[in-house]
Amino acid sequence: MQNFSYSKAESVEQAAAMGGRFIGGGTTLVDLMKQGVEAPTQLVDVTGLPLATVETLPNGELKVGALVRNSDLAHHETVKAQYAVLSQALLSGASPQLRNMATTGGNLLQRTRCPYFRDTSYTNCNKRNPGAGCAALGGHNRMMAILGTSEDCIATHPSDMAVAMTALEATIHVEGPKGKREIAIADFYRLPGTTPNVENALEPGELITHVTLPAPRKESKQVYLKLRDRASYEFALASAAVVAETSGGHIRYVRVALGGVGTRPWRAHEAEAALMGKPAKTEHFRAAAEAALKNAKPQSENGFKVELARRCIVRAMTMATA
Ligand SMILES: Cc1cc2nc3c(=O)[nH]c(=O)nc-3n(C[C@H](O)[C@H](O)[C@H](O)COP(=O)(O)OP(=O)(O)OC[C@H]3O[C@@H](n4cnc5c(N)ncnc54)[C@H](O)[C@@H]3O)c2cc1C
Ligand code: SF4
Repeated sequence: MQNFSYSKAESVEQAAAMGGRFIGGGTTLVDLMKQGVEAPTQLVDVTGLPLATVETLPNGELKVGALVRNSDLAHHETVKAQYAVLSQALLSGASPQLRNMATTGGNLLQRTRCPYFRDTSYTNCNKRNPGAGCAALGGHNRMMAILGTSEDCIATHPSDMAVAMTALEATIHVEGPKGKREIAIADFYRLPGTTPNVENALEPGELITHVTLPAPRKESKQVYLKLRDRASYEFALASAAVVAETSGGHIRYVRVALGGVGTRPWRAHEAEAALMGKPAKTEHFRAAAEAALKNAKPQSENGFKVELARRCIVRAMTMATA
């Protein structure tokens, strides 16, 4: 680990003006610093800022502070009752100890688990060393993405929480040297393209202050289904976040997002289009799953993810419309 300076921000304005690298729970950043993957020279601890509350706004939206711990958010009464997909996604991630440390802002910005990215003995990683190539292409790629990949990077986005927030159509609020702005989660994560080192829409020095979720859809049923190699403490091979409303046995509203298969939390617009207005029946779930994976590009070791993700969608839709 290289030397770095450490300071604790006393206000949001001060943090936004300080530059440097923010640290929340530290469960991603400190690991990467120890591994030599990241070497920030200035750490700005934001954990003392007043951004750790969850509140319902007058317009019905839910405001989640960037410093709300993953465990607190998962067990928050409103989240459990009205945004169940988010609670389930959070509880499916990491371990209780990690969730007690991890923050909402840090979770959104966690970095890929691609082993070549996290092992500096491999120099050929375009995300870490732009222009150096991609060791995962033609290497071990069982865990890699099948949607949104490019010739320069096939790394999977690892967050469960962000997949649920994608299905809930969250908005991310930031504050930086140029002031405040808000970014729809659909616009927050970048596809790798030719610049996999650019992962999101944040500009230098911008601090995530909070996330807002639209007013709850009280008639909806919500499911986060995560399929993985072992029952806990493991990243997704494929996951599906579903928010669905039916009436008269027909689907009247549906949002589907996928995890474990995309280079970013993956909104399955094609699946939603195939489901809207249809009877809540397996044949339509299957057709939607086919549509969602139509453009999948599997690698040498992860072809199984295509059918796994399809079955994940079918199962999650079955649960959400039961
Ligand atoms: C063993 C292990 C297993 C895991 N399993 C899972 C899993 O199954 N599913 C899953 O989703 N996740 C999993 N995780 C990842 C975990 O969820 C993240 O490490 C955690 O959410 C990161 O939050 P943090 O507050 O600790 O982030 P930090 O490490 O503090 O920060 C992460 C990044 O966010 C930046 N940052 C932090 N806060 C802000 C802010 N407010 N504004 C701007 N930038 C900010 C930091 O600069 C850094 O780049 C696992 C982690 C470990 C170590
Ligand atoms: S998949 Fe992306 S993160 Fe992994 S080695 Fe290739 S460029 Fe690096």
